[in-house]
Amino acid sequence: KLENATIKAELGRASWKLLHTMMARFPEKPTEDDKMALKTYMQLFSRLYPCGDCARHFQGLLKKYPPQVSSRNNAAGWACFMHNQVNERLHKPQFNCNNIGDFYDCGCGDEDKSKDG
Ligand code: FAD
Repeated sequence: KLENATIKAELGRASWKLLHTMMARFPEKPTEDDKMALKTYMQLFSRLYPCGDCARHFQGLLKKYPPQVSSRNNAAGWACFMHNQVNERLHKPQFNCNNIGDFYDCGCGDEDKSKDG
């Protein structure tokens, strides 16, 4: 089947949105179990990502830059950095990771009252 760049890009946007929103909700003080869950998630994500080319490239990035899971800030900063690595390869503009703070809101309210969720 022919590549369809529109659908491929749509999948990318949806995937990044989920990833960054997950990071924005990752515990500020993760337990060892939380940390393991995020590492495992990223490993499986990179293995099962449906665009094979993207998956292979992202697995290479993961080896070079293992997930930072010690806090929400570190996880969100790491994901932003990884997305920028992909941006660079695709000749897209770099995102300013200092502004990631309130950019990804899950819209789910309650749970995390210290932020506005
Ligand atoms: P996207 O890159 O999808 O970004 C969506 C929005 O996120 C942007 O509009 C911006 O508001 C915000 N954003 C941008 N950069 C960042 C950042 N660093 N941190 C946080 N937010 C940010 N496509 C390919 O053609 N080849 C590939 O090899 C490839 N590999 C991929 C690997 C992964 C793991 C994923 C998830 C996607 C991959 N894609 C790949 C898809 C590609 O990254 C884009 O999602 C797609 O091209 C659509 O780009 P876009 O310009 O709409 O913005």
